[in-house]
Amino acid sequence: MRPEQLHPQSIYTPKPACIVKTQALTANERLFRLQFVDGSPLGHQPGQFVEVSVLGVGEAPLTITSSPRQPDYFELCVRRVGNVTNALHELSEGAVLGIRGPLGRGFPLAEFQRQNLLIIAGGIGIIPLRPVIEHVLSERDKFKDITILYGVKHPDERLFRDDIACWEGREDVDFRLTVDRPMEGWAGHVGVVTTFFPKLNIDPLNTVAIIVGPPIMYKFVLLGLSHKGFADQKVFMSFERRMKCGVGKCGHCQINGVLTCRQGPTFSYAEIKDLREAIG
Ligand SMILES: Cc1cc2nc3c(=O)[nH]c(=O)nc-3n(C[C@H](O)[C@H](O)[C@H](O)COP(=O)(O)OP(=O)(O)OC[C@H]3O[C@@H](n4cnc5c(N)ncnc54)[C@H](O)[C@@H]3O)c2cc1C
Repeated sequence: MRPEQLHPQSIYTPKPACIVKTQALTANERLFRLQFVDGSPLGHQPGQFVEVSVLGVGEAPLTITSSPRQPDYFELCVRRVGNVTNALHELSEGAVLGIRGPLGRGFPLAEFQRQNLLIIAGGIGIIPLRPVIEHVLSERDKFKDITILYGVKHPDERLFRDDIACWEGREDVDFRLTVDRPMEGWAGHVGVVTTFFPKLNIDPLNTVAIIVGPPIMYKFVLLGLSHKGFADQKVFMSFERRMKCGVGKCGHCQINGVLTCRQGPTFSYAEIKDLREAIG
């Protein structure tokens, strides 16, 4: 009898995955490349997440930041904030983690085809947007104009600098980076991400906006998009809520009855606009 017949995979059973590569991206964020020990692919959609367990410490939801086009591995980018994330930062190549997932609902990328895309990331909001960007660039001819706005507080906080260099170098993408506080010698744009809005020449009727960032960014970006004439169903976002089970059983992550782990974490603004606690 095979092991999976003895212990059939349950939604609560983590599957072992090995860290094959790890790299510091900033002082607080680290990238982990993982492979399932049994060699199977993760099979995710951009926008989905996994529950990651560190033996003896606990479990945390983390977004998959690599493209599904690389089935041999998947990547997670982890900001250290507490028990699990600090323990993850201490692990080296060869360490084995537990993975449940992929979980949640990814972005409906097929629906975005034949439209312009306005992708707006704030801080670590670039983590779920990186696989979206990789996907749309790998199928570039299926989308019209692509504009990417990425805002960070300080230049040191830029994630995925190799990818940024690649996006900046492409003629078929309008990529713009901004920082709130420049460092000496910074020649780039300064100001919050919405300072790009006045000069943004966008047709709201034929454009989908995909935004991920901190709550304060949502507030001002949503206001700016509304002023530009975006309909609520043309705006998509991803939410981080305190989660436990990740599979819609425990209710920890619910916002006014909506389970963000199962029904999200990606939503159109039209879906969550009337939920009182959704946007701070
Ligand atoms: C769907 C989803 C995707 C996520 N993706 C990523 C990702 O790709 N990369 C990443 O770095 N983080 C991500 N997070 C956040 C990550 O899950 C938390 O930082 C992590 O669970 C913290 O666990 P910990 O044991 O390290 O911290 P703890 O020891 O549990 O807590 C440390 C501190 O952080 C606070 N805290 C913990 N979790 C949260 C939370 N979810 N929201 C607000 N405050 C919190 C606690 O109140 C405490 O102050 C995601 C969260 C969700 C829900």
